[in-house]
Amino acid sequence: MTPEILIGAPMPPAVVAALEAAFTVHKLWEIEDKAGFFAGAGKRVRGLAASTLAGRIDGALMDRLPALEIISNFGVGYDTVDAVAAAERGIIVTNTPGALDDEVADLTVGLLLATLRQLPQADRFVREGQWPQGPFPLSPTLRGRRIGILGLGAIGKAIAQRLEAFGVEIAYHTRSRKDDVSYGYHDTLIWLAAASDVLIAIVPGGASTRHIVDAEVLAALGADGVFINVARGSVVDQPALIAALQTGTILAAGLDVYQDEPNVPEALIALPNVVLLPHLGSASVHTRAAMGQLVVDNLKTWFADGKPLTPVAETRHLLA
Ligand code: NDP
Repeated sequence: MTPEILIGAPMPPAVVAALEAAFTVHKLWEIEDKAGFFAGAGKRVRGLAASTLAGRIDGALMDRLPALEIISNFGVGYDTVDAVAAAERGIIVTNTPGALDDEVADLTVGLLLATLRQLPQADRFVREGQWPQGPFPLSPTLRGRRIGILGLGAIGKAIAQRLEAFGVEIAYHTRSRKDDVSYGYHDTLIWLAAASDVLIAIVPGGASTRHIVDAEVLAALGADGVFINVARGSVVDQPALIAALQTGTILAAGLDVYQDEPNVPEALIALPNVVLLPHLGSASVHTRAAMGQLVVDNLKTWFADGKPLTPVAETRHLLA
């Protein structure tokens, strides 16, 4: 009998097929009698394939799956999984680092350029037939801008490497200085914002980064400042951001993530100086396939030899 696993929410069909080839699979979204499932087959579930679409995976859910050994998360950000609660229960959590760094970094640079050069607005201008009435207004520029990166991990570094080619100055803020880069370091976010014309957020979500980009940080970024969020919606105080965009406290924003996805406030949609993406960071066919393969491989290696490929920091000690 192959191990029984639960998939928390729909995943790309190839991932589901690969899981079905290796395991006995339960699909939570297809189960009508969820209470009956948890009281019966749920007690045999040893692995959980999770994603942000599956909602919060907390200790209470883990307790309803008493045979659970591993949570394989589809995504590098695992703020929807309570990894500390998992560790307390001896459950391994894995994520998908490496598989999506380049894709998210590419998207970030695209979003930055789209925001500065107003590419979506210009596309609308052409489609609405406005060009014959006169040229599109001149846009802001990347030229001469100082870029501040909040979070210089795998993706932050991939963004910085790309931006080096644009000939812009780069600095960063993290909790600890990184020895393997020569970019300027600011030990507070407010100082990074004050010294930057663009602030790019690419830190994990969760309690330690909740609303760290607040009204004060946005004021420090200044009236010519541009904020790009490809991290998590929780990282920024969203009402403060909307106010800053409405009042000219900052110039513009490019957003891939929101406080309450997939709901985007009308106030943001109404603003002309924001570019809004529907959480696209890693969302290409190529990269979602690579992430899905890692979700499958983490489960396979765990059940084969107890050595999952990419355990998260909070649960790594369980493997020692
Ligand atoms: P890493 O773990 O490699 O890097 C995280 C970085 O954030 C580190 O440099 C870390 O440095 C810094 N950091 C963590 N906490 C804080 C804090 N409280 N204050 C300041 N800096 C902090 O992660 P990745 O680069 O792989 O991914 C980062 C995040 O990007 C993910 O967790 C996810 O939320 C988001 N993401 C979004 C995607 C999208 O679709 N938009 C796609 C993929 C990822 P230090 O520990 O020294 O503080």
